[in-house]
Amino acid sequence: MPERNAVEIKSVSKVFGFGEYAVAAVDHVSVAIRENEFFTLLGPSGCGKTTLLRLIAGFEFPSSGEIVLAGENIAAMPPYKRPINTVFQNYALFPHMTVAENIGFGLQMLGRPKAEMTARVSEMLKLVRMEHLAGRRTSQISGGQQQRVALARALAPQPKVLLLDEPLSALDYKLRKEMQIELKRLQAETGITFIFVTHDQEEALTMSDRIAVMSSGKILQVGSPHDIYDRPADRFVADFIGETNFLAARVIQPGEGGAEVELAGGLRLKASAAPGLSAGEAATVVVRPEHASLSRPDRVIIAPSLQGTVSNVVYFGTDTHYHVRLDGGETFIVRSQNRVHQHGRFETGEPVNVVFEPGAARVLRN
Ligand code: ADP
Ligand code: MG
Repeated sequence: MPERNAVEIKSVSKVFGFGEYAVAAVDHVSVAIRENEFFTLLGPSGCGKTTLLRLIAGFEFPSSGEIVLAGENIAAMPPYKRPINTVFQNYALFPHMTVAENIGFGLQMLGRPKAEMTARVSEMLKLVRMEHLAGRRTSQISGGQQQRVALARALAPQPKVLLLDEPLSALDYKLRKEMQIELKRLQAETGITFIFVTHDQEEALTMSDRIAVMSSGKILQVGSPHDIYDRPADRFVADFIGETNFLAARVIQPGEGGAEVELAGGLRLKASAAPGLSAGEAATVVVRPEHASLSRPDRVIIAPSLQGTVSNVVYFGTDTHYHVRLDGGETFIVRSQNRVHQHGRFETGEPVNVVFEPGAARVLRN
C-alpha cells in the first residue's frame, strides 16, 4: 500500500509586516508529512519553525500557498475544527486544576459525554504513567510530570496530527533524554503523526523518522537522519548537523553519484556528491571527524591521506578529538573513540597522517 500523507504543505509563504519591513518567516515551503511519521523541523532560532507549526495548526493564515490535510485544503479552516493538537513549549497547563482535569479539558470543550471522558482520561493517565498523581494540582508536580500532562491532554481528543514546539527545551539534560524516549514510545503506541520542532540537532537525529532542515524560512533538505548526516545537500546542512571538516577542492571529473576532486594540497580522491557539478568548478569537500583516523608517518597507508601536525588534543571521556594543522594550513579534526586498550595515542606537536575511511568524503558546491 502506498504511504499516505497526513499533511501536505504546498508552496506556503507567510510574510509579516509590510513594504521594506516585510519578513518572509516562511518562504515558499513545500513538504509532505506522512501518516504515522515522527517528522522533525530542525533549524536555528528565527528560521521559521514556529510560524510553520502555527500555519499547520491554524493560528496563522498563509500569505500564499495551500495546506492539505488528508486530501482536504484546510488553509481557511479555524484551528478548533482541525484534527490537530499542539503541545506548547511552556505547557500552558491550568495550575488550579488537577492532573486529570487538565487532561480532560479538551474533551470537555468538545462536549464529549461524561462516561467517554472519564474512560479516555484514565487511558491517557496510564499512557503517560501518571495514574498515581491524577488528583494532584499541576502546580504541585515536577517539570517532567507537567510535560507528561501536557502530552496526555493534547493526545486525549485523538488528533490525527500532534504538533510539538520545542517541548523538551525547559527540561534538564537527563530528563530531556528520558522524555525523548518517552515521546518516541507515545508516537509508536498511538500511531499519531508527530510534527516536532527543535533547534537541537542531536534531538532531531535520535528521534525522527525524517527531518526537514530549515534556514531563513526555507527548507533546505528533507531526509532520514542518515541522509541528512551522511549526504548533506549543502554547506549549511553539513555545518548545522554535527561537526564536520571543510576542505577547499576543485572538481576534476564529475560522475554518476560522485566526483573525482583535487584538494588544495594536490591530493586526488573520489567523493560522493549531489548532481550538478561541472569539471573545473571550485567546491568544498566535507569529512566527518569520526570518518578519519590518524596514523604515524612511518606507517604504510593505501587510503587517501593528508599530512599534518597535531596542534591540540581534547579529551571528552568517550572519545578524544585531535586537532591537526594540515601542511596546507587548514585545520582538520579527527575524532577517536576511547577504548580500554588504546593502541595509538598522539601528542601535540607530533607529525601525523590523516587517513580517510572509504566513502568518507562528500563534495558540495560552493
Ligand atoms: P523559530 O521558531 O524558528 O525560532 P519563528 O517562526 O518564531 O522562528 O520566526 C521566524 C521569523 O519570523 C523571525 O524573524 C521572527 O522575528 C518573525 N516573526 C515571527 N512571528 C512574527 C510576528 N507575529 N510578527 C512579525 N514577525 C514575526
Ligand atoms: Mg520557535
